[in-house]
Amino acid sequence: MSSGFKAELTGSFSTPCDDNPTVAMVEAAYRHHGLPWRYINAEVRPAGLAAAVAGARAMGWRGFNLSMPHKVAVIEHLDGLGESARLIQAVNCVVCRDGNFIGENTDGKGFLSSLVPIRDPRGTHVMLLGAGGAARAIAVELALAGVARLTIVNRSPDRAEGLARLVRAARPIEVAVADWPGMVAVPGDAAVLVNCTSIGLGDATAHVPVALESLRPGLIVADVIPNPPQTRFLREARSAGCTTLDGLGMLVGQGVLGVKYWTGIDAEPGVMRATLEEVFA
Ligand code: NDP
Repeated sequence: MSSGFKAELTGSFSTPCDDNPTVAMVEAAYRHHGLPWRYINAEVRPAGLAAAVAGARAMGWRGFNLSMPHKVAVIEHLDGLGESARLIQAVNCVVCRDGNFIGENTDGKGFLSSLVPIRDPRGTHVMLLGAGGAARAIAVELALAGVARLTIVNRSPDRAEGLARLVRAARPIEVAVADWPGMVAVPGDAAVLVNCTSIGLGDATAHVPVALESLRPGLIVADVIPNPPQTRFLREARSAGCTTLDGLGMLVGQGVLGVKYWTGIDAEPGVMRATLEEVFA
């Protein structure tokens, strides 16, 4: 019989890690569900990543998240990849299964879990702004979820082309790449527009150059920026009559999935979201 002094360990490796609020959100879920689990937010630099993963193995960690800059570099230290991580070619969540560290990607799935209750994207046209890591995860999951057409707009065209190739390799859907010459208009048939750039992170006034007159009621407008949750991009979209989704939904969604992968329980998203809202208030 257990004396109750052993905690199951999970956590996160990133640098810098001090601003990463995931620890507050996940530990709130552990407490809410009465789980004797801990989540350690660890500062890990690139040179220390291999040793950090080996340390997690040695200590019997049940899994961990990866954030900047380890999402690709971690792959060579793992025992296998889940389907999304293999297609996206990046890992943000490692799960210990039968003693093996398996890399998963929950970023795009987290986004979908916030989008689907508002609008099922199957068969629709979605426009993505950005082609970095967040865009990669969201684009691949949208393709797997049955989106008919994706338009990718990015400041650096090469990166957008690379993402288009990645998506087409995942699913043979129609992917268009568009320039971002100062201002971009949302096509009339687009159902969803997602800001996947880092514009707005830590700056509630930062401007995402989208033509306001192309925003209209009925369009779903989402932002990946978790902090501040109410970005200028979302405020302008709401004023234009669009339905908006903030970046906290995606952050909570990927957190719920991580907790499910590690512990097997369905964590209460409301508790996790309330904790983040408190942290960012
Ligand atoms: P990357 O650095 O991989 O990509 C950044 C993207 O933003 C690129 O497409 C880049 O364009 C674009 N960009 C940056 N500045 C500008 C600018 N001034 N004008 C036009 N485009 C710009 O970052 P990630 O994809 O990993 O992260 C993006 C954001 O997503 C971050 O703010 C992060 O906090 C957020 N995020 C949120 C999550 C959540 O759960 N809510 C999960 C993961 C990320 P270019 O290619 O031309 O450089």
